[in-house]
Amino acid sequence: MPNRFCAICGKEINAFSPHFSMCYECYLEEHPLFEIPDKFSFKICLDCLKYNKKEEWFEPILKDIDQIIEDAIQRFILKPYLKKRTIDFKILLDEHSMVFSSKDLLKSINVNIIGTLNENEKIMFAQDMQIVINYELCKNCVNLRGGSYFLSIIQLRVVDEQKLFFIEEVLEKIESYVKNLFLKEQRHYISKISDEKNGVDLYLSTNEIMNYIISFLRGNYHFILKRSKKLVGRDIHRGKNLYRLKSLIKFLPFRKKDTIIIKNKKFKIDTILKNKVILKNESDIKITKDFKFFFNEPLTVIKEEEVD
Ligand SMILES: [Zn+2]
Ligand SMILES: [Zn+2]
Repeated sequence: MPNRFCAICGKEINAFSPHFSMCYECYLEEHPLFEIPDKFSFKICLDCLKYNKKEEWFEPILKDIDQIIEDAIQRFILKPYLKKRTIDFKILLDEHSMVFSSKDLLKSINVNIIGTLNENEKIMFAQDMQIVINYELCKNCVNLRGGSYFLSIIQLRVVDEQKLFFIEEVLEKIESYVKNLFLKEQRHYISKISDEKNGVDLYLSTNEIMNYIISFLRGNYHFILKRSKKLVGRDIHRGKNLYRLKSLIKFLPFRKKDTIIIKNKKFKIDTILKNKVILKNESDIKITKDFKFFFNEPLTVIKEEEVD
């Protein structure tokens, strides 16, 4: 092949040149590998370090400012290029350009973004960009700081005050369960717990968490559940009514193998099913009753360990 020369700078070019009449450098002058703005600003939540550009808040891969900046650049600036997978990007943060606020928050930093063409790593392009960071609280953290925000309520009840120790035990389990949920997703938390007659009310940050707690309790306890909802307003953006959901949970006052006395008759708790209980009377005859039955009849419970 005869020698060829760049039509612009006159440098010798070969078969790998991106254009039949131009060298890499001159080609890139006119056709940069990627185009990004000189300046880019986004927001970081002061409390949870999620980041956002418009509406949605995103969880960073790591709660580290360098990582958050990289995440934001990739998500908001480089995404269309990353999708095509034709360019490899490096993001270099210029530590000397950092500007901090009076509260020691990073306000601005310059980054150098270098892109290399996958097919030919000699084809590179780099551009500087100034990153400006604004700080505010995401919606979830506003609610968390406010402390009284809730969407749903779970009411835990026992049949009489004597059994309140049982509520305490259940509450302890729920709290550790919710703590783990919160670590995974900060929108799920108990906003308030109030003491009520024969139990407590839990005010919950989401509707999902109410259902999670109910499933969690189903795996461990027997109870009747009554759900209700109350119209509290309207979501104008989505054109939907907003309801506050409430779940009333009444725990069965006994466990398997306990003995109960109803109208002077003794029954042994033989089996507890999903919503029925199989009792055995003193002649060992089995009787099946719905959970509801035990909340309408005055009954005395003799714990298994107390039975002689
Ligand atoms: Zn050239
Ligand atoms: Zn937040």
